[in-house]
This record gives sequence, C-alpha cells and structure tokens, in this order.
Amino acid sequence: MPDTSSSPKPPSFQYWNRAMETMNRAELEAWQLSRLQKTLDYSLRTPFYKERLSGTGIKSGNDIRSLDDLKKIPFTTKHDLRDGFPYGFLSIPLEDVVRLHASSGTTGTPTTIYFSAEDIKRWTGFVARSIFATGCNKTDVFQNMITYGLFTGGLGFHSGGEEVGMLVIPSGPGNTTRQFRLMQDFGTTVLHATPSFLLHVESKMREEGIARESLRLRKAFAGAEPYSEDTRLRIEKLLNIDVYNSYGLSEMNGPGVAFECQCKNGLHIWEDGYIAEIINPETLEPVREGETGELVLTILCREATPILRYRTRDLTGFIPGPCACGRTHRRLRRITGRSDDMLIINGVNVFPSQIEEVVMAMHQVGNNYLIVVEKEGSLDRLTVKVEVGQDIFMDDSRLLNAVRDKIAKTLQASITINPRVELHEKGALPVSEGKAVRVEDKRPKDV
Ligand code: AMP
Ligand code: ZN
Repeated sequence: MPDTSSSPKPPSFQYWNRAMETMNRAELEAWQLSRLQKTLDYSLRTPFYKERLSGTGIKSGNDIRSLDDLKKIPFTTKHDLRDGFPYGFLSIPLEDVVRLHASSGTTGTPTTIYFSAEDIKRWTGFVARSIFATGCNKTDVFQNMITYGLFTGGLGFHSGGEEVGMLVIPSGPGNTTRQFRLMQDFGTTVLHATPSFLLHVESKMREEGIARESLRLRKAFAGAEPYSEDTRLRIEKLLNIDVYNSYGLSEMNGPGVAFECQCKNGLHIWEDGYIAEIINPETLEPVREGETGELVLTILCREATPILRYRTRDLTGFIPGPCACGRTHRRLRRITGRSDDMLIINGVNVFPSQIEEVVMAMHQVGNNYLIVVEKEGSLDRLTVKVEVGQDIFMDDSRLLNAVRDKIAKTLQASITINPRVELHEKGALPVSEGKAVRVEDKRPKDV
C-alpha cells in the first residue's frame, strides 16, 4: 500500500513504501547483507552455483560476513545462463514455480528465468514503487503499449500498474490507429512503450490528424532500449507529456530494477532488491565513484532463480550525492548502450548512442534514423540514414543538400569519422514494435 502519511518533502514526492525507499545507508546495507546471505543459500541449491562456488570456500550464506565479501563470488555471464539452460539456475522444486520469462534475445539466444509466487509479488512491488515514484496513482488510466508474452515488459508493468490501482489497458504494441482509439475511448493518461515506438506514435498522430487536446495523456514510461536525453526532450515536447526512464532486464526480473523519480535526474536503483556494482569491463575492477563502466547486478529479491554478480554489459555510472526526492537508493546515469554494441569503424570506436545524441538534437531530423555499416573494398563505410524533420520538403534540393551537409559535419565533429548521410521521407525507415533495431552491420563477420 502507498504511504501517504504527512511528509516533510514537497507534496509531489510520494512514496510507495516510505520505510524502504528512504532507509538510511547503514540500514540499507544491513538489509542487503541479510538478503545476500539468503540468496546465497538459494543459489547453493542450483546445479550451476554448486559447481561455480565450489572452489571459493563459500558453503552457505553465513560464509559471507560483510558486503565486502561479495567480491569473493565469481561473476555470472549471459554465456553461463545459456550453458545452464534449462534448469541449471533453478533453486526450488519445479512444482513451486508459477511462471517463466525469457530475455528477448537482444544479443542472441534467449535465457529463461523462473519465478515463485512470492517472487512475482516482490517484483510487482518494485514495479508499483517505480510507477508511483513518477507521480502516478490509482486515478490514472494506463495503456501498456509494450510486448506481452515471454518478454517481461508487458506482464511486469501490467501487474505493477494494477498493484498501484490504475486502470490498465493491455494494448500491447503496434496498430497506432487502434492505440489512438483506446486513448480516446478510455481517457488514457499514462503510456508505456519503447522510446522509438513513442516517437512513431507521435508521427502517426500528426499523420492521422489526431488532436492532442482530444487526449488526456500526461506521462509516459520509456525503456527497454537506450535513448538519449535529447530523445526524451523531443518526445516530451512533441507529445506534451512527462517521460520517465525505465530500466530493467529479464535476468533481474524485468522492469522495476531502476527508474527515474519526479526529479528526472538519474534512475534510482532499488537497492533493497539489487546490489549494484560498476566495473571496468576490461580489468573487471570497480571503477572510481561516478565513472562510467559496466553494471553488475546481484538480485536479492528472487528465490527461484538466484543470479549473483551478473555482468549486464550495460554501460552507466553512479550519480554522486543524494536526490532531492528524499530517496536514499543510489542513482544511475542514463544507460548509454552496451559494452558489446560498440562499433569499430576503420579502427575508430563508435557507440550508436553518440550518433543518436547528435541526430536527435537536430530539428532538421525527424523521428527515426538507422545506422548502416558496410565494407567498401578494404574500408568500412558508415551511412547514417535519417528521416527529415517536419519543416523540410523533399523537393527542395538546395535545402536538402545543406541539411545533409550540416548533419554530416556535426556527426563528424562528434565521432571523428566522416559518415555518408542519407535523407529519407517521413515514415520511410523501418519501425519496430519492440526494441528498435538501430544498427545494420553488414560487414562480413570474420573481418
Ligand atoms: P531484456 O532482458 O530482453 O528485457 O533486455 C534487457 C536489456 O535492454 C538491458 O540489459 C539493456 O541493454 C536494455 N535496456 C532496458 N531498459 C533500458 C533503458 N532504460 N535504457 C537503456 N537500455 C535499456
Ligand atoms: Zn529521486
């Protein structure tokens, strides 16, 4: 239940579970340690960790005496999860499992996660807490425009929304005409989608002549894929709504791992459910406070599939200092991408997020773009395809040339290589209903 008792904070900061969300550091760490010990006990019942922990001297949770001892536990990778398929990470009898989910396979074969009834309750609590932290409440009508099914985003947000008491419309993604109809018929106030789908919705809205005033939208949760601050500002401006960054991954339940509060300055990682570390992906040593590195997570809130020190590959860093909302759980910077999505183009390292940052900040660019890398002879060739902005007409060739030049120059200043820029009409580039595919790397794999 939400805690709405009198608060010294401005009234807009509402807590779902004040005690947990504002716990002081010492209490939070004591909680983490006791949950970690329990999680270790569960993990020692799984075939995978029995073997993995055998050389470490850890025979029970009690062998971990402080959070510092965490480093005695080896990392777990996606590769390990695949090797453990299907039941290598299961720690309770199958008859006590009530649900499974799978990773959407962002980078390969899916991996499976099992939940007990208690696990589902705890997960739902974290999603409800996240939704509530954005200022939503039971009076909201929530259209969940994300994929249902094995992917955790649909059902995870669905249950969290119901827990908050919102009216949840399980629309799933796609079919924007139907989405608008639902928004109008039921007075939708809150949306959940990938940022790329939200941009697509906005383009379609203009195309179909849907008046913004005919909708009651006020907030949106956007996640499941990286996006820049400029993309957030663009969605906020075009749709006239508040957009909150939602981060999660199926290995750690799904949504509700880290979420922005109303301060919109970093994502609170719910530290009573997860232990977060940031490491240098090369040396595997912790980075200095505030530096960017790979996020490593240990789940503390799931018995059926305990996963310890999971290398997420996601790149982020801690934001030092407290948040104005009063929550004590640390904040992560916007995730810029994955350590494994870096492109090496003629020897230069380029992250797709660097390209997005440039193009989404330019008003000459519309709501969609695509990065293509090919081989031309022995060299790599980078092409950035962008849809043109609203105020650009495709028949004005002088203007088009000037726009193309401007985008190419601005990109070159940021990524140091000279891309080919292609301009496309609005709606010409492919739209994905789930996670957007922003990069087509057509180079032969063995080079
Ligand atoms: P899945 O397990 O299929 O849900 O995919 C999880 C992955 O999606 C994460 O490890 C991230 O790479 C990505 N992801 C999810 N949410 C975000 C977000 N808000 N920002 C950036 N990447 C995200
Ligand atoms: Zn906050």
